[in-house]
Amino acid sequence: MKTYLVWGLGKSGQSAVKLLKSKGYKVLSGDDAKGDRWEEFLQEVDTLVLSPGIPPSHPLWKEALKRDIEVVGELELAYRFFEGEAVAITGTDGKSTTTRLAYLMLSSHLDNVYEAGNIGTPLSEVVLKNSKGIAVIEVSSFQGKTLSTFRPKAGAFLNFSVDHLDWHPTLEDYLKSKHNIFSRQQEEDLFVAGSTQKEVLSTPTPAKKVIPGVNLTIGEEVLFEGEKLFSREDIPLRGRHNLINSAVASIIAYSFGVPPSKIRETLRNFKGLPYRMELVARFRGVEIYNDSKSTTPNSLRAALESFPDNSVILIAGGKNKGADFSPLRELFERKVKTALLIGETKNFIKTAFGGGSNIKTLDSLEEAVSLALKYAQPGDFILFSPGCSSFDMFSNYIDRGEAFNKLIRERCKL
Ligand code: ADP
Repeated sequence: MKTYLVWGLGKSGQSAVKLLKSKGYKVLSGDDAKGDRWEEFLQEVDTLVLSPGIPPSHPLWKEALKRDIEVVGELELAYRFFEGEAVAITGTDGKSTTTRLAYLMLSSHLDNVYEAGNIGTPLSEVVLKNSKGIAVIEVSSFQGKTLSTFRPKAGAFLNFSVDHLDWHPTLEDYLKSKHNIFSRQQEEDLFVAGSTQKEVLSTPTPAKKVIPGVNLTIGEEVLFEGEKLFSREDIPLRGRHNLINSAVASIIAYSFGVPPSKIRETLRNFKGLPYRMELVARFRGVEIYNDSKSTTPNSLRAALESFPDNSVILIAGGKNKGADFSPLRELFERKVKTALLIGETKNFIKTAFGGGSNIKTLDSLEEAVSLALKYAQPGDFILFSPGCSSFDMFSNYIDRGEAFNKLIRERCKL
């Protein structure tokens, strides 16, 4: 019987251990953070299960490759024990929202539908509960890289932009890891493109392709091969990006037989996920949005595009991942009245946006919130959409989002 080494004991690592033990395998495990050492284990290991936090540059990954030890992530591992149908959602931005929508639509009509992957529950947990259901899985590029048997019956690639170069050795490796999610699909499967970017359209899959502008119309009405699935007004969420996410989720649901009436009902009731363009308060005629999950220039773009011209008091900035903000300059000039920048990237973004006097660099989120409330006029929108990850000032986007909400509650006396 095979011996596994599970390295990295976060949520998915712990679930992988549980799953393997339930199947009777010998499982070794450890975590750098606990000071554990892997060197002594490698002699007896057949397969290494690595946490998504461990990059290919990690000495353990390199050593495993040298010794020809198989390396998988928790998703590939769990899929090997999964006998149901997988739906895979990936892309640089919009994965969680689209995953949740597809899950809600499918479960409104079918039994044994589970949500899994990056959004929260590792697929291993789903397999332990019911290995024969439908799993709607948010797949990151980290999990994508080590897939070797995974075959989604339906999958979506939403969009692609520069990201995660602190993990992937190259941008090409990031894209290849996304493409790898779909490369084992078959002709009877479904692939939905969320954009017409060349990186998305070049996905190597023999599956039936759904492509915006070809067999998918996304306008005031969303039509798939001529059939109306829903209208713009069915979606309470702001922004064209949410229209796209909804269209992608609805096509997946439709392909599993969910009727358009249930798709529409799900969309009408969906309030969005926390910290994604979340309307957190209305204060003296100003709407305040918390988009703390915005960690890339692309998600900041989507957020800015959701508001009228010259109406936004923007709070942005965070950890420096080397992303380029200069392509957003024109949009910034059109939408933003005042920008309040914080974090490692504040000066970098200021320069990218032209360095005007309406751009202020500050030392804390607290200061930014105070100034935003001072500057905002009735009819304006305060938008907290960092466009950067949070690890320079906060432990994660939830912590950052909570900090913003708390400041708003305090200052607005809500
Ligand atoms: P992910 O799981 O890929 O990070 P989320 O659904 O959690 O995606 O959304 C993350 C951020 O991206 C939020 O700021 C959200 O408003 C924005 N976003 C959501 N969908 C899209 C999209 N299709 N294109 C660009 N940005 C998007």
